[in-house]
Amino acid sequence: MTSQASDPTRLLENSLESGRIHSAYLISGAGEAPRHAALWFARGVACTAQKAQPRPCGECPACHRSQTRDGAEGCIALDGTGKSGPLYRHIGEHADLYWIERGRDDTRVRIGQIRALQKALRLGANEGGWRVAVVAEAEWLNAEAQNALLRLLEEPPPRTCLILVSARASALLATIRSRSVKVVFPSEERPALRGDDVAEETAALVERFDGIVTASLGELVGWAEEYRGPRASSAEKVDALLALGSEWLRDQVHTRVRAGERDLEGALDAWKTLSRCRRDLATRNANPQMIAEKGLIAVRLAVGR
Ligand SMILES: [Zn+2]
Repeated sequence: MTSQASDPTRLLENSLESGRIHSAYLISGAGEAPRHAALWFARGVACTAQKAQPRPCGECPACHRSQTRDGAEGCIALDGTGKSGPLYRHIGEHADLYWIERGRDDTRVRIGQIRALQKALRLGANEGGWRVAVVAEAEWLNAEAQNALLRLLEEPPPRTCLILVSARASALLATIRSRSVKVVFPSEERPALRGDDVAEETAALVERFDGIVTASLGELVGWAEEYRGPRASSAEKVDALLALGSEWLRDQVHTRVRAGERDLEGALDAWKTLSRCRRDLATRNANPQMIAEKGLIAVRLAVGR
């Protein structure tokens, strides 16, 4: 379906103006912009202002109910299990606007959260209008949860709109992407690896990657062992490590191309391995330490001498 890289919000504005709301949107891109767009659009769909007015109008009863404190989507913490916190929350106090994201200590959006949403959406709308469910951090849905979501997309309940928000659309199943209207914000800005503005932590990692060309297998295993610990925090650290590793590898490839080298297959294979590792980390119950090891070894094999 339509993709608009130039002005991502224009497509959403058109939907609101025309009243033609699709059953699913996939808003992707880096930073907070996709989340804010999802929140704004969900409120706009629920807004009951007259057609000519821009939505959300901020004045109607629906807008009052969907108003969130401090401009965020609300501060009720989800825990992903429904034990100490809810599985989903509402946007403001609007009973037909739902918001799902990872629980505070969770690595992934859990299947139980999607099931709870399915159940809620099967019941009729509370206020008789549209229902909108935002699934934030959708790249952190595991395969089972993605399949549950797919069933929802295949047979969407009437007057129901699902909004998936993801930093990387490619992390979602192709079958989910093809059923969604895509709204594309600029993707992850390529981080600078060297120079005065680089964060100390990044500079330290870059230095270690620079040394990887002569690192022994034992050194790499030791490096990966640093990512032992609670899964949620290790997974994020390993994801950051692999993201940086990909950038570092890209730099290496550019340097080699400039030097006239043509045999780059090894580096490209390693780059693919890193992408696959990041996906496994997000969508499967992969062990972060093992994933770190796999990624580091792939880089070493590609560039080592
Ligand atoms: Zn309104």
